[in-house]
Amino acid sequence: MNNPFPYSDSNKRYYTFDYMMRKRFGGKCVKIPIDAGFTCPNIDGKCGRGGCTYCTLPHRSGEMRGIDIENQYALQTEKLSSKWSGALRLPYLQDYTNTYADINKLKKIYETVLSLPEAIGIDIATRVDAIDDECIKYLKEINERTFLILELGLQTIHDSTASLINRGHSYEKFLEVYEKLKNLNICIHIINSLPYESDEMMLATAREIARLHPFMLKIHMLYIEEGTRIADSYKNRDFELLTLEEYTSVVCRQLELLPPDICIGRITGDGQKATLIAPDWSKKKFVVMNEIDKFLVKNNTYQGILYK
Ligand code: SF4
Repeated sequence: MNNPFPYSDSNKRYYTFDYMMRKRFGGKCVKIPIDAGFTCPNIDGKCGRGGCTYCTLPHRSGEMRGIDIENQYALQTEKLSSKWSGALRLPYLQDYTNTYADINKLKKIYETVLSLPEAIGIDIATRVDAIDDECIKYLKEINERTFLILELGLQTIHDSTASLINRGHSYEKFLEVYEKLKNLNICIHIINSLPYESDEMMLATAREIARLHPFMLKIHMLYIEEGTRIADSYKNRDFELLTLEEYTSVVCRQLELLPPDICIGRITGDGQKATLIAPDWSKKKFVVMNEIDKFLVKNNTYQGILYK
């Protein structure tokens, strides 16, 4: 295999989560989703109502909500065991804003998660306007004793887009909090194909991620799902979505701009197939990943080739 990308032992020309975890922990790792019962300040009115315009969470009830953390972990582990028996387990507080509570409640939840059998650490997804200084101090303590990933939704560096999608915070706010957190394993989320964003705007977001140099980046396509506010705007033909070819090209050009040692936690997402309106091509995640691999080989390029 002729692969010039250094952080890979396969055909991947970008630094995958799987590769990073195998090198770090010596084996395959699976994330175990846990619904710890949080809500979101952009849904409940603290900073906004209705949530980000693409968010499906206000419109669906999580199947695990209300089940205690230990039982959720057991149920989810059981579900994954047929496919990933023997894999390392990383509990993942994914849905909603998982730092949005007072410090005593956070400690109770996180300590429960950290004591789950065979958990190798904790992965917490949140937004920057729901992390106060007390929480930061506690996250730093956790980081001293175990493996912590803190996932921060950014989606775009462009405030005009953030306002259109009702993100509820500015890029300046993101930077202010990121600065306080930057010694942690931060994973930033971005979305491609947000309304009216040009390729150059998406590449500018990637350039800024390169400058921030987080531990990890998750790249998503915008999904239009039934029941969301963005679905109405999409049905009115207010904006167009990227085609598979366009998405592939943008993602590969973003990869070129990033430092080679930023782990790519996701290169395309998992839309809810039952409620997905568009883009249809995103339902075949394997095809999208293949197209990205093929593009990188065909153009003899890889993550970081243009990073200075
Ligand atoms: S921050 Fe997350 S949970 Fe909150 S509204 Fe936006 S997408 Fe939904």
